[in-house]
Amino acid sequence: MANMSKEKTPMPEQPAELRCSNFQEVCTGYTEEMAIQEAQRCLQCGKHPCMDSCPVNVHIPEFIAKVAAGEFEAAYQIIEQTNSLPAICGRVCPQENQCEGSCVRGNKGDPVGIGRLERFVADWHAANHAVEPPHTHCNGHKVAVVGAGPAGLACAGDLIGMGYDVTVFESLHKPGGVLVYGIPEFRLPKAIVAREVAHLESRGVKFVNNAVIGKSVTIDELMDEDGFEAVFIGTGAGLPSFMHIPGEDALGVCSANEYLTRINLMKAYLPEYDTPIAKAEHIAVVGAGNVAMDASRCALRMGTKQVSIIYRRGHAEIPARAEEVEHAMAEGVNFRLLTNPVRILSDETGHVCGLECVEMELGEPDASGRRSSVPIEGSNFVIPVDMVIMALGTKLNTLILDTTPGLPANKRGGVEADEGGRTGRPGVFAGGDAVTGAATVIKAMGAGKAAAKSIDEYIKSK
Ligand code: FAD
Ligand code: SF4
Ligand code: SF4
Repeated sequence: MANMSKEKTPMPEQPAELRCSNFQEVCTGYTEEMAIQEAQRCLQCGKHPCMDSCPVNVHIPEFIAKVAAGEFEAAYQIIEQTNSLPAICGRVCPQENQCEGSCVRGNKGDPVGIGRLERFVADWHAANHAVEPPHTHCNGHKVAVVGAGPAGLACAGDLIGMGYDVTVFESLHKPGGVLVYGIPEFRLPKAIVAREVAHLESRGVKFVNNAVIGKSVTIDELMDEDGFEAVFIGTGAGLPSFMHIPGEDALGVCSANEYLTRINLMKAYLPEYDTPIAKAEHIAVVGAGNVAMDASRCALRMGTKQVSIIYRRGHAEIPARAEEVEHAMAEGVNFRLLTNPVRILSDETGHVCGLECVEMELGEPDASGRRSSVPIEGSNFVIPVDMVIMALGTKLNTLILDTTPGLPANKRGGVEADEGGRTGRPGVFAGGDAVTGAATVIKAMGAGKAAAKSIDEYIKSK
């Protein structure tokens, strides 16, 4: 019988006062009983709007029916048909804008906790099934994947399944992309990403780390000299943006990407690591996307007494996942909304000592569909801070475009590619943030999978 509760089965989590001083995962996951209880809220709608709103079309009602019946491994097998990284997507997908945003239970109460159930099923599978790598016959065709983020990993996973000889080239010392250098441990434990990478390795994918394509070797050299018949570009959009306001070159101003990389990838949060990282009493984090939430919550955990998010629009326009905003607020991050920085003040040593801001009001919707923000004349005021972290979005690093003749760029400054990842240059494919600009994990994964299909068609048609 359906569970007609209007509320999602609550997710157990570490209390806010405890978790804001550790990096362990905030949400601890459903038990089997909780998962069954939540799965029973699904109405098994024939038109399944939830599934249509998932970028990789996970067969949501089918897997949830298996969870409700206590058949967790069968549920996993259904999810895995379309999503190769469910433990990650269950944790970080912006479900409120995707699958759960279209769930009919959301019309009168909470939607079904699809992400929570997906995470439960993936974790249950990992804990209860030793993964036997499927045996695939290698067809002898070599494909290179550039970048080991979700787009590259998904592309490599599908290609190895089709029998290709796949090598992933990654510029950092660890594969995972934003999943390892950006998203913090308390949201996505690194062991989960490492498990997915190890699974790909066990299936035959080769990883070459510390290889900056465009510097160590070019795409043309990979194809002309190293025998790769096709290349997938999944290099993300990791170049930070700044505001270009006076004082931005002061000591104590950094990008969220740099701050998060030092904490996550270089393990600054562990006392046994001697990672250089700036510390402060009051940090202003400019922006209100996922990156800003991650930077502000990390700053609290690094011992910062006061952390303020500075955002020029209102609460309704905050682009971060709703859960991250709630968590940040509960942990004590201060939100200065309708506030925009205009100047960074520094002391006689050149170090940040304040952030001059102006109050804003909301205007008409702009090109993005969100209400624009307009400065209120004469409303300037100073927030005394000793560090500023810019979390304003990221752009594509143009190294690959600059070193690959004939590779077209798109209007966003990324690599031009169609929905199948075809770039217009024979044998060169692209997808994920490198094409769309900063987006989401599941969209990048979907693009990697679409490109794998196109690469297979391309090589077979040669
Ligand atoms: P990336 O993950 O950026 O991976 C690209 C990889 O390519 C990197 O490892 C990079 O080192 C490598 N690379 C770059 N250039 C080269 C080169 N020349 N040679 C070799 N390797 C190269 N999305 C969500 O859905 N939910 C979230 O909660 C969320 N939170 C986020 C938090 C942060 C802090 C950030 C930064 C992003 C977040 N996102 C989130 C966005 C999401 O992580 C990205 O959209 C996604 O990772 C893009 O995947 P990708 O594979 O295209 O690129
Ligand atoms: Fe929802 Fe993401 Fe899972 Fe799709 S992959 S069902 S959007 S949590
Ligand atoms: Fe179940 Fe909601 Fe999907 Fe309907 S829309 S099948 S209730 S998850």
